[in-house]
Amino acid sequence: MPEELQYSLDELANFIGKDKDAIVAFYGGEPLLKANLVKKMIDVLPAKKFVLQTNGYFIEKLGRYVHKLDTILLSIDGRKEITDFYRQKGCYDKVIKALNFLKESGYEGEIIARMAVSYKTDIYKDVMHLLKFFPYVHWQLDVVWSNLWGVKEFKEWAEKSYKPGIKKLIKYWIKNLEKGKIVGIVPFLGIASRILHGGSGLPCQAGKEAFAISPDKKIMACPIAFDFEWNMLGDFKEFKRVDIGEPCIKCNFFNICGGRCLFFHKEWLWGKEGFEAVCNVTKFLIKELKKYEDIWKKYNIKYPPYNNTTEIIP
Ligand code: SF4
Repeated sequence: MPEELQYSLDELANFIGKDKDAIVAFYGGEPLLKANLVKKMIDVLPAKKFVLQTNGYFIEKLGRYVHKLDTILLSIDGRKEITDFYRQKGCYDKVIKALNFLKESGYEGEIIARMAVSYKTDIYKDVMHLLKFFPYVHWQLDVVWSNLWGVKEFKEWAEKSYKPGIKKLIKYWIKNLEKGKIVGIVPFLGIASRILHGGSGLPCQAGKEAFAISPDKKIMACPIAFDFEWNMLGDFKEFKRVDIGEPCIKCNFFNICGGRCLFFHKEWLWGKEGFEAVCNVTKFLIKELKKYEDIWKKYNIKYPPYNNTTEIIP
């Protein structure tokens, strides 16, 4: 991608203005490498909501502009040793510093710990750790598109570690619900919400209602897959949409899962075995949550309140 935008902010504002309910999410790479540009965009773009996904390293550069953001997602993977292992030494402390900055600034928007989950993660321990500091925790599995492990290791980890951890986490979530407290575990909230209120297609809406605009003026479905042809939808003048197809539309879990992730749906980088292994843990999570439907349905959970870029299905 070119370092500088290949269009003016006026052009961008006109384009976004066509959507009366636009939500603008700053996503990278790291958007705050260009903190001043983010501030300018917040000033001129006609959006109803602003969302930021960031590693937190440069959040202080936003100053009072943090208050103009409705949701901030901070990338952190759980306990200090896990986060620093996956990312880099010192990363955990930087994110906690960013979180403290937001709290000390009196930030009132939604703060989400956004985890990547891979072979060193203990889902129960790492989510529980983050819940001590963050009101919301979301995670996505490091699968299919990973350089840390392959399908065989993932399947072993899913049985030995992830599934038992999910069961414990659900029990913790339910125990709190029974006491009247809704703990902000995003995949649980999002799945409960889809079961109660329905939904259409991918929870993140990539390619259908959500689009990524690249610095070189392309409209894409998903911001992470910029070099794939199916992801290129057009430009400011004209663009098409892309939707989920088979096998998902024939799957019994489609109404809830929605196809999980467009990249995952299109690029079977771990083959059929890998695709099915990931679906297996998705179905497991949905089935485990359904066991407690009588308890959580009383709360009429609706999440997310708007597209805050959480993918819901890990
Ligand atoms: S569980 Fe798998 S096959 Fe079913 S909708 Fe989700 S991604 Fe598609």
